[in-house]
Amino acid sequence: MAAQRRVASLTRQLTSAPAELEGFDAVSTVTDVVGSTESGFDPRSLYEFITRDNVQLRDTAMEFMQDDLYKPNYYQSLMDFREQTLQRLQKYVDQRFFKTMDYLKDPRRFMAGLEVLALCDYSLAIKAGVHFTLCGGTICKLGTAKHHAKYLPGLDSLELPGCFGMTELGHGSNVLGIETQAVYDKETGEFVIHTPSDTASKFWIGGSAQHGKVCTVFAQLTVNGKWEGPHVFVVRIRDDQGKLTHGVRIRDNGPKMGLNGVDNGQIWFEHVRIPRDALLNRFADVAEDGTYSSPFPTVGQRFGVTVGGLTTGRMLIAGGGIDASKIGVCIAIAYACQRPQFGSRYIMEYLTHQRRLLPALATCYAMHFTLCTLKDIAFTAKPNAKAVHVLSSGLKAAATWNRVEILQDCRECCGGQGFSAENKIGPMKTDFDVDTTFEGDNTVLMQQVAKALLESAAKSRTKLQRPDLRPEEALTPSSIQELLQFRQDALVAQIGGEMQRAAASSSGKAAAAASTAAFDANLDLVVALGAAFYLAHNALSRPHFQAVRLFVNENCSRLSSNGGETLLRLCAGFGIPDHLIQAPIAFDWRCIGKDL
Ligand SMILES: Cc1cc2nc3c(=O)[nH]c(=O)nc-3n(C[C@H](O)[C@H](O)[C@H](O)COP(=O)(O)OP(=O)(O)OC[C@H]3O[C@@H](n4cnc5c(N)ncnc54)[C@H](O)[C@@H]3O)c2cc1C
Repeated sequence: MAAQRRVASLTRQLTSAPAELEGFDAVSTVTDVVGSTESGFDPRSLYEFITRDNVQLRDTAMEFMQDDLYKPNYYQSLMDFREQTLQRLQKYVDQRFFKTMDYLKDPRRFMAGLEVLALCDYSLAIKAGVHFTLCGGTICKLGTAKHHAKYLPGLDSLELPGCFGMTELGHGSNVLGIETQAVYDKETGEFVIHTPSDTASKFWIGGSAQHGKVCTVFAQLTVNGKWEGPHVFVVRIRDDQGKLTHGVRIRDNGPKMGLNGVDNGQIWFEHVRIPRDALLNRFADVAEDGTYSSPFPTVGQRFGVTVGGLTTGRMLIAGGGIDASKIGVCIAIAYACQRPQFGSRYIMEYLTHQRRLLPALATCYAMHFTLCTLKDIAFTAKPNAKAVHVLSSGLKAAATWNRVEILQDCRECCGGQGFSAENKIGPMKTDFDVDTTFEGDNTVLMQQVAKALLESAAKSRTKLQRPDLRPEEALTPSSIQELLQFRQDALVAQIGGEMQRAAASSSGKAAAAASTAAFDANLDLVVALGAAFYLAHNALSRPHFQAVRLFVNENCSRLSSNGGETLLRLCAGFGIPDHLIQAPIAFDWRCIGKDL
């Protein structure tokens, strides 16, 4: 059968879902629901099984994006792309798939409504994310009823495009160190927002260069001469006609290496006066007479609750990275299953290709399930805020670093075709590249994860257990878990030991400083030991590695057999429709250019 007919017939099979599988029992195993990989399985049921929430909303939103406005156009200018991104967002917002208040009331729906946008275009997803999650979510979470009544209707309709002003030219990862000032003037009952130096200018503020009208601004609050730490204020940066408000100056950040549909800007505030009500006062307030109050007595605690609301945004960035990886893998596998090279052999049949793409496919599923679990932990009645912070930080870093590797592999696996913009992987590589940096730089986030692990290890003081596995056991799920746990425990013990030894020679503040210095001096260990860790720690021997290699190769070959049917079904299980996959090579590469 000709390659194109085979793919077309397979695509038909993959997209038809048997009605009897609707409403499956959520506690069933994947095999119960979708059938085994050997017997063939239904990708639609797999999609519904792994999606967990808002399947109908996602389907409707994805279908909506069949509209011509959402088709890619790689020829347009930067300014046209920004305009198109705004129009795309407006049309999407007009469908009312979710409301800003869902951030608090129905966070799964809120996330679902935003997650599908990353499948279409990352500029659209980020423009929406800044508006709804960073600006809207901050107003929901840190604001009170008066703020919700005043701002949410305009945010819901996009009449009031929102920005999020946290980062400054001189202060990115260290948010506590920002310089922007907010001084309370009790004579007039206003706050005065001021940028005291150029390094204090807000930088990279999404949506601010052209479209933003309102901005949630992070500033150091001073009341009656006393510094109270960073607080968030809602500041009008443009009036209803789009003219900059008095005292606000904005410079366009200009062209970027990707994500050019978003208008990022740099903002200065020249003694901008805003009403007392502009302080988002859920966790701290200033009375008319200048009395400051907060249930959190220290600057550190107040800062914790102020930035604690950023976890939903971080989860969305993780999800975007996972979804970009899924699209890359879907394109590369679909192409590899129909692209012969050196005779009639399809490139998917080469072991090297399998070893590049199958771990990527497996990683997409693993990351997807991890995000589902994180949502379960985060969206309970009383979530453990610290656990959510640490897990979302770790997952965001892992998902986006994996995305970097996966998209590069997918690009190379498509050969020259991978380099063509219309095949989507290249533009995704540049658009998504910033996800390792924004919403928390990955390296800085990983330090926070490491610190949390060190703290919990110091409390539990469990003895290090080296796994004792026979070579053939090395890849069972329980042994993999045992090995990963050992790796984590051994690294923590090593760094923790260095910190304890450093602290032992001094006391008080000096001991804490020595311990911190030892932590800093060992940061490279986590990365450097990662690669050869199991051999270096005698947890696995050469026979183990040989057994693992054979196991992986055999499974790659088994899963890639029969024209890659199982792989194509697993890709289709992500539920990404053709019009969002977009890349011509994912369908029939022989037809490229035929329309001319
Ligand atoms: C396209 C884009 C859009 C953005 N949108 C917004 C927005 O809408 N609103 C907003 O407020 N911000 C926004 N940001 C800013 C973003 O959140 C910051 O860039 C990010 O927090 C990193 O800060 P930085 O750029 O100052 O880097 P830095 O913090 O200076 O980091 C630079 C390097 O130093 C390393 N480093 C820093 N501190 C440490 C440490 N303690 N130990 C070890 N290494 C360290 C980092 O790993 C990194 O490699 C955006 C950024 C970009 C690029």
